[in-house]
Amino acid sequence: MTFDHDIKATVRSIPDYPKKGILFHDITTLLADARAFRRAVDELVHPWAGAKVDKVAGIEARGFILGGAVAHQLSAGFVPIRKKGKLPHTTVRIAYSLEYGIDEMEMHADAVLPGERVILVDDLIATGGTAEGAVKLLRQIGANVVAACFIIDLPDLGGAAKLRAMDVPVRTLMAFE
Ligand code: IMP
Repeated sequence: MTFDHDIKATVRSIPDYPKKGILFHDITTLLADARAFRRAVDELVHPWAGAKVDKVAGIEARGFILGGAVAHQLSAGFVPIRKKGKLPHTTVRIAYSLEYGIDEMEMHADAVLPGERVILVDDLIATGGTAEGAVKLLRQIGANVVAACFIIDLPDLGGAAKLRAMDVPVRTLMAFE
């Protein structure tokens, strides 16, 4: 893991959001800082400079912002993974666990071809339930998930370890204990 204090200082942490007792890490302040945004995207893609990546899959909604920039940087296509009911064509769907309860996410069934090399992108990994669901969905349609990238890791919640146990290399730029 690369630790960069300058980028980390641009993340705003908000107590008691969205509910009491939760400390929410807000990356909109990082995105609004031109140097931090550029640096974060450059750092995320660094290991794959010159490598073959067919698609970048971004998880709704902040994963779209980062994933689009990462895809452009790697000259790869972009694929959205969305909450159910938002995509217009034939989809594949999976249920995944949230902190309280479950939800479902979808992607277009033809968005990735079997064997294509895909990098998954989101802003933050906590318990890993969301990313685990996304990896399973991608693998369901035959994707080769070569890595998952996140700006922020909350290591105490075990999400990155969960993905690594699924044989997905994980890249994160900073951790909040
Ligand atoms: P997980 O499924 O528990 O790993 O939670 C990760 C998902 O919840 C990601 O899609 C994040 O965008 C979102 N999330 C959870 N906590 C935070 C936070 O503190 N800041 C921003 N997003 C969060």
